[in-house]
Amino acid sequence: MRKLQMVDLKGQYTHIKPEIDQAVIDVVDSTAYINGPAVQSFQANLEQYLDVKHVIPCANGTDALQIAMMGLGLKPGDEVITADFTFAATVEVIALLGLTPVLVDVDPETYNIDINAIEKAITPKTKAIVPVHLFGHVANMDAIMDLAKAHDLKVIEDNAQAIGADYTFKNGSSKKAGTIGDVGATSFFPSKNLGCYGDGGAIFTNNDKLAHTIRGIVNHGMYERYHHDVVGVNSRLDSIQAAILDIKLKHLDTYNSRRQDAARAYSKALQNHQAIVTPTTFTHKSCDINCSICDTCDCHVFHQYTIRITNGKRDHLAEHLKEKNIPFGIYYPIPLHLQKAYADKRYNEADFKVTNQLVDEVISLPMHTELYTEQIEFITNTILEFLG
Ligand SMILES: *Cc1c(COP(=O)(O)O)cnc(C)c1O
Repeated sequence: MRKLQMVDLKGQYTHIKPEIDQAVIDVVDSTAYINGPAVQSFQANLEQYLDVKHVIPCANGTDALQIAMMGLGLKPGDEVITADFTFAATVEVIALLGLTPVLVDVDPETYNIDINAIEKAITPKTKAIVPVHLFGHVANMDAIMDLAKAHDLKVIEDNAQAIGADYTFKNGSSKKAGTIGDVGATSFFPSKNLGCYGDGGAIFTNNDKLAHTIRGIVNHGMYERYHHDVVGVNSRLDSIQAAILDIKLKHLDTYNSRRQDAARAYSKALQNHQAIVTPTTFTHKSCDINCSICDTCDCHVFHQYTIRITNGKRDHLAEHLKEKNIPFGIYYPIPLHLQKAYADKRYNEADFKVTNQLVDEVISLPMHTELYTEQIEFITNTILEFLG
């Protein structure tokens, strides 16, 4: 059996090696290392793939979130609501910009931001909501967009984990994750669903004016050479990474469906155990609440395959997996509202019931595009044997 890895980057590279190697050599040979044709090409292809008017590449996903917020003109003191159960980058940039992060609990079924909790947290100072499409599962964008409209709030989608996912609205229409709110931000970190071979990120929007503002912000606030109209940053996707991404973009749908196949195989094996909760993937009415991985909706692209162990034995299971050389991840072990950097007297533990429980119960299993049936069987059999 091939060695188990949380993410098998080498296995994926092997299939596209000649094409990737040639593309990298071509960029090196061209010397167009910054903003070269490879960047323009990837940008245009990603716009077409996502069916969005503007893709603005940048240096990483954290920058993408920060620049999106700068572009929207959010000001110190503005409150920005986001999920308590996510990677710290989301809240980090809110705090860095002097905005006030307002962390709220997540939904017990999807682990995405809880709609009722958002509604409760809205004050006259609230200016934006940042839903995170956690683990590759698109948040309830119907409800989030309704709330945003009712309260005149901006919506910034943190799409670092869900690129390529489709969201189907209640009315049956559908859009790519990250293109629904005012602006979307993504990461091309190597382990993400569309990963480069270093750091990379991008911002998406259908708003021409916002796209123009953001294009200046990523380039030192310049709209005309050496005229700095606003305070900007230096955040670029380099040409080598763009050339790699342009090749991998052609495979993204295949990569995501491989992840979904692996998730289906995991769920099939694990979903009937009483101490295991497998992922649910409903985001809209036509999806049944218990559909494990709905065949008609692509709202989950499984950046992570995360289960909950509800009998209190998650840490014992983790130890056991370690002994069996099965990699795993605990995403995330500490709620953001309990992190030293983001603690706030205003928070009330009773408001974070779900996150506080998830951090003790979640465990993510190996998930990537190169998982073989025998590997999944070995992993699921090991888990089931251990839990008894
Ligand atoms: C990875 C990730 C980011 C940050 O992306 P980087 O490219 O590592 O800066 C932000 N938000 C979420 C939810 C992520 O998973």
